[in-house]
Amino acid sequence: MDLFEYQGKQYFARFGIPTSAGGVADTVAEAVEQADLAGYPVVVKAQVKVGGRGKAGGIKLAGDAAAAAQAAEAILGMDIKGHVVRRLWIEHASDIAKEYYASFTLDRPAKLHLGMLSAAGGVEIEEVAATNPEAIARLHVNPVDGLDEATARRWVDEARLDGPARDEAARLLVRLYRCFVEGDCDLAEINPLILTTDGAVHALDAKVTLDENATFRHPEWGELAGGEAEDPREQMAKEKGLNYIGLDGSVGIIANGAGLAMSTLDVVNQVGGSAANFLDIGGGANAAVMSAALEVINADAKVRSILVNIFGGITRVDDVANGVIEALSQVEIRSPIVLRLDGTNAEAGRALLAPHLSARVLAEPTMLSAARRAVELAR
Ligand code: GDP
Ligand code: MN
Repeated sequence: MDLFEYQGKQYFARFGIPTSAGGVADTVAEAVEQADLAGYPVVVKAQVKVGGRGKAGGIKLAGDAAAAAQAAEAILGMDIKGHVVRRLWIEHASDIAKEYYASFTLDRPAKLHLGMLSAAGGVEIEEVAATNPEAIARLHVNPVDGLDEATARRWVDEARLDGPARDEAARLLVRLYRCFVEGDCDLAEINPLILTTDGAVHALDAKVTLDENATFRHPEWGELAGGEAEDPREQMAKEKGLNYIGLDGSVGIIANGAGLAMSTLDVVNQVGGSAANFLDIGGGANAAVMSAALEVINADAKVRSILVNIFGGITRVDDVANGVIEALSQVEIRSPIVLRLDGTNAEAGRALLAPHLSARVLAEPTMLSAARRAVELAR
């Protein structure tokens, strides 16, 4: 789950990472109120879950109430890379001496946490990595050891942050690491991390992605959800408790098991089609789950055919077939459906299904032939 900047800053604050005081505003009047509270000059910032707001005109400095109103007026409703601005964050403007970059993320191949720190902040880190890779000091942190201040201090030296920023930056990085670990983040990024003209170091921006697998130990995350519209298909799937990811293609996919679902996407791709989604219905595949899956796929206007790929292991294919038959009687599907049912009790399952087959409900013996048929039908 990605957080808005203001939520990221509130999250940082729990771990003692300094940010500028500010407030949110959804209207021009509220923006002026918040600006008055923050004290001028202020910075008026578009709250959208996409980077590069500054370049897009979504960040404006304002010296007085009239300018704040004007900035809010201009930014509210603005479209930034397809994200419409509905909310602003207003904070007291900082006097920037230097802009740095700092982040923690997971380095999967290394099986370690990866910190990235650079004295070249304010610009996109991908750009720095491409044009000036030696400007990024990388630090692998073993999660068992954690990050202590002495290590952080050496890291800050290596990144060549300016002298006056070093001690405070090291302390902040230890806190950022704690936020990353204890806060269960997939990403905790500050760009820019600034040194102010009076020698303070703080986070001017916040990009936080929370690891949703850890939701169970963070009851406080409940209030962070929502805000910006999710993919309506994903929202619907979430409400139905399905493991669904929306994609852009035209073949709706239902499979049991994440591995089989991913392989199904690959095979659809291999035969020249494109998947509309990833959907793993897990081991159960009963009528209720199958109905829920069909409903979500049905609601996707781009879907032209549906491929159901089930391999029965512990799950018995005759049970699955009954589930499919019941689901088809409950949900009126818009698109033709191709079924590939194999594995335990496959014969019995296919026999059950046979009387229900038609030009709109087809069976195929293999994953490859089923994918071919579904892709043809989607054309
Ligand atoms: P992003 O463009 O979406 O990454 O938004 P940021 O929050 O990183 O802001 C972009 C840029 O706006 C920063 O790199 C700063 O140069 C500038 N900016 C943001 N806040 C302030 C501020 O308080 N004072 C000043 N002088 N500039 C700011
Ligand atoms: Mn930024």
